[in-house]
Amino acid sequence: MTENYIGRFAPSPTGLLHAGSLVAALASFIDAKAHHGKWLIRIEDVDQTRCKKEWAEGILSVLDRLEMKSDGPILWQSQRTDRYLEVIDQLIAQKKVYGCSCTRHTIEKENVRLGAPLNHYPGTCRQGPHGAIRSWRFLTNDTPITFTDRWSGHYSQNVEKAVGDFVVKRADGLFAYQLAVVIDDHDSGVTDIVRGADLIDNTPRQLAIYRALGWEEPTYMHIPLVLNDRHEKLSKQGGARPLSENLLEELNHAWHHLGFAPISAKNPTDFYNQAIPLWQNRFQIAK
Ligand code: GLU
Repeated sequence: MTENYIGRFAPSPTGLLHAGSLVAALASFIDAKAHHGKWLIRIEDVDQTRCKKEWAEGILSVLDRLEMKSDGPILWQSQRTDRYLEVIDQLIAQKKVYGCSCTRHTIEKENVRLGAPLNHYPGTCRQGPHGAIRSWRFLTNDTPITFTDRWSGHYSQNVEKAVGDFVVKRADGLFAYQLAVVIDDHDSGVTDIVRGADLIDNTPRQLAIYRALGWEEPTYMHIPLVLNDRHEKLSKQGGARPLSENLLEELNHAWHHLGFAPISAKNPTDFYNQAIPLWQNRFQIAK
């Protein structure tokens, strides 16, 4: 596994890099280098309503100053529409994805009637849409999807019960994160995903897509989130401050968050060279 390791950092350019996303960048980068693997950058700008080119460029320029270089071309999700369509067509042909005519209102009404959580999909269009198709949904089943997370261990979710048949192409025509992330990681040969713990409950949905397509599944490591004073996930929307000019200090904050003692380094590359053996020891990765 070590030799073929391909990892990635996949920020959504909905704001600049901040202390929370730096932790994901650092952990994914160090884990890739600790495995003598490759590390790729992907810009997740699939949702054009929330993303801005200038934020993407800002993120890339900070990564450059952090001396974190992508070991391959940078992938932009906004340029991948044809590929996403091709895979959706394949899933429709396999009857793993179906057209849905429900609106948010009809779904909520049905859930109120059933006493179910409002955002759960009750399967109304499973046997066929009741009107014009608005979105496309992945057909889930009643079997728990289980995996071993490298940070937090055993994780299991029955996707049908937790969220129901989930959207892969939205009513506004945009592809859902769940689908785009799987196709991109697969096409880039990503073997190991290191990202924030807020995404762990998305992973079973993504594994369901891998399994439907018969694609090899990556391993996962979901790292603890950086929280703000109100104990909420630090996010660009939640007012996270951009990184300061002192990037070595910022790297040490992120490193501390991952449970390590400060590193005194001359520059980012020197920081990583010292961090890699510590990470290898902690996660028992062959040197
Ligand atoms: N684009 C997502 C984010 O910025 C990360 C997706 C992933 O790592 O799978 O939160």
